Order: sequence, then structure tokens, then C-alpha cells
Amino acid sequence: ESEGALNCVEKLMKEVKKNRYNSFITVTEEIALSQAEEYEKGKLKGKLAGIPVAIKDNISTAGIRTTCASKMLHDYVPPFDAHVVERLKEEGAIIVGKTNMDEFAMGTTTETSYFGVVRNPRDESRVAGGSSGGSASSIAGGETVLSLGSDTGGSIRCPASFTGVYGLKPTYGLVSRYGLIPYANSLEQIGPMAASLDDLALLLEVIAGRDQRDSTNAGREFRFEFVEKDFKVGIVKEMKANEKVMAAFEEFVEKLKKVAKVKEISLPSLNYALPAYYVIAMSEASSNLARYDGVRYGYTLEKLDSWRKFFAKVRAEGFGEEVKRRIMMGSFALSTGYYGKYYLKALKVRTLVINDFKRAFESFDILISPTMPDVAFKIGEIKDPVTMYYADVNTVPANLAGIPALSVPLLEVDGLPVGVQLMGNHFSESALISFGKIVE
Ligand code: GLN
Repeated sequence: ESEGALNCVEKLMKEVKKNRYNSFITVTEEIALSQAEEYEKGKLKGKLAGIPVAIKDNISTAGIRTTCASKMLHDYVPPFDAHVVERLKEEGAIIVGKTNMDEFAMGTTTETSYFGVVRNPRDESRVAGGSSGGSASSIAGGETVLSLGSDTGGSIRCPASFTGVYGLKPTYGLVSRYGLIPYANSLEQIGPMAASLDDLALLLEVIAGRDQRDSTNAGREFRFEFVEKDFKVGIVKEMKANEKVMAAFEEFVEKLKKVAKVKEISLPSLNYALPAYYVIAMSEASSNLARYDGVRYGYTLEKLDSWRKFFAKVRAEGFGEEVKRRIMMGSFALSTGYYGKYYLKALKVRTLVINDFKRAFESFDILISPTMPDVAFKIGEIKDPVTMYYADVNTVPANLAGIPALSVPLLEVDGLPVGVQLMGNHFSESALISFGKIVE
């Protein structure tokens, strides 16, 4: 404050522009500096006045390139702001840039980005997680104060766990998805990432709320209120981690037993949650990504002798390997003859998962697990896609059920951070954040 906002933001933008961890795809220096000037003149008002925020690059920003980390959208400039971006502007936030991610948010390490991998500020030979890797590394590396990520199947919580920051996937419907470029609409939410729970709660207050442009919006506001009670905590038996992470988690549980009632609980359907998630996510993705035809958005070519060839070539050149794999698998799962076998089966599993959580929340306030089964991987370490998918085993159930899930950096394994995941019933964000504050 005493230094002057413009000075502070100038210094920060110098760091952001260096892009040391490759957190950013686009740096919005001019916008940030002009907003800082406004702030100094007392013209920027609101809950986030003068506070730097980074935005994941699948969230539409009017006049600012929004790429989804894909060649397909490498030069796409949206004509409108996402609901959450409107809210940031209304509350006076300073937008520092658009963050790197897995292509179309498909991945767990940000290695599928067309713009190169994000390096983990805690150990630069490792990934920062994904798909919101840049949103996490920009906080862990001191390049911003707050950031927005999106979470379809762990993409906020995984990078939060890998980089030692806080990340929340809100209840489905709490935050408008208007302007979020879709991957799997029925699973995803935009959510806050931060270096403290107070910051995270404040950002959630700003982005949550009514919006008629998203038909799944719950029409609810969010105000953080500290919840004081005797929390009944369930340890989810089906959630997994490697030996070292499990040992650290169990040590944490022992300490927890001194301040809360803790019991193990079994949710048997979770054994099938991961394959169900991938069938549903890929099916929705295959349908969503049909719109990238080289005519309406981004990457295009001179017209070839036939439209069929044109579409094929645009899509062959514009999409990366992982995205193509998912379009093909999703189309397969939705095709005649296989629809019942895969997609409908997955929806049935989804219902079982929803019912298991419903039952669990009759006797527990909060369910906990390690967020990720491992510490951040070395860059290039995971080569096989199925092994990569397995890393999401603990995070995807919350997306299938639409419940809120918060990753709190509470564990350390071999000098690297691992998060503890707190899951609660729909709209119990205040309880999750309160519990996080009590145990950290
Ligand atoms: N790893 C998950 C996937 O690739 C994460 C997706 C996400 O949350 N955007 O589907």
C-alpha cells in the first residue's frame, strides 16, 4: 500500500513476464497496469480492489486471447466475458494473465498443452499437476495472489495438491459456467485457488451466484460463515494412495482424532467411479469438440477440394494426441450398439456414487482422503495414458456426485506437498473451509 499500487503491480508484472514456470499463455500487462492506475486514483472499488488474479485459459475473456492451450484456438479472441470474469471486474480485481493448462483441460500434468509444460515451483523438474497447472504454479511461484481454475475431474485439486496451494471444486451449480469453454458440462465447475483459506473464501464469494445464462446454475449466492460444531469425519476406505502418501495421511488422521470424531466409511461404488468418469467425460467431450471445424473458431486452412477433407485436415492438425484419443473413445462409447454397454452403464454407476455419498452424509459432515495418490510426477515420467487416468481416482467421485471438494496442503512426502481432500454435502462450502481452518 505505502509503495503505491502501480509500483507493486509493475514489479509483479516483471515477474509474470519472465514466465519462469511457464504458468502463463498470455500476459495482460497493459490491462493490469491501467487497472493499477485506476486503483491509485481510487476508481477501482470492490471486494477484490487492487488484487492480482490469474485466469485459466479456458475461461472466456473479452478482447483477450483464450486458447484452451490448443493449436485449434491459438488465436481465438472471445467477444464476451465469462460470468466469473464479469464478477472479477465488478469487484475491482487486477487481471494479470491467462494461465497454462492441459489442452481443453484433458490431463493431469499440463503436459498436453500446445504451449509447453508448466514447471512446479516446489521442484522445477516436476509437473505442477493439471489440468489447471498454470493457475496453481502462478500462486505457488508468487506470480499472482488468486487464480481461477476449472475442475471436471480433479483439475483444480490435483495441481493444488502437487504445488502446495488451496483449491476448491464448488458444488455443481454454485458458480456459473457461462463462458467456460466446455469439456464435460455435467461434471465441471470453475473454482478458486489461493495461498490461504481466507483468500479462497473471498474469491468464491465473488464468483458464486445467480446467472440465468447457465441453465444449471443453482441461483444461490455464497457468503462464508464460520461453522463451529463437533465435526463427524469419515475416512473413505475406497480412496487410494501409494505407501508413503498413505503413511503421511494416517499420521494426519491420528492427530485429527484428538479434535474430531473420526470413523472409517465404505462407499463401494467408488471402486467403479474412475472408469465411469472417463466414459462420461469422453462422451461429453466428443460431442462438445465437434464445433471445432475450422470455420467458426480459431485454426483454419485454405479450402481444400472437399469439405470432408477440409474438416479432417483442420481437426488432424488442430488437436493434440490426447484430445483426439478422447474424441475417438467418446464417439465409440456413444455409438449405436455400444451406447448401452458403456455410456448407460457409466450413468448407472454415477447414480450409485450419488446414492453412496447421500447415505454417507446422513452420518458424516465431512469425508476425507489424500487428494492425490502420489506427489508431483517428474516431467515426462508418466507415459501411458491409462496410468495417468489412475491418478484421478480420488478426485473424480466428487464431480460425478456434484458435491464440493477442497484440497488443503496438509501433508508432506519426501519434501513435496500433498493435499488432504475434504468433501461435503451439496452447498457445504462454509463447513469445508471452516474445517480446513480448524485442522491446518
Ligand atoms: N485428469 C482429468 C481428465 O483428464 C481432469 C480433468 C479436469 O478436471 N479438467 O479428465
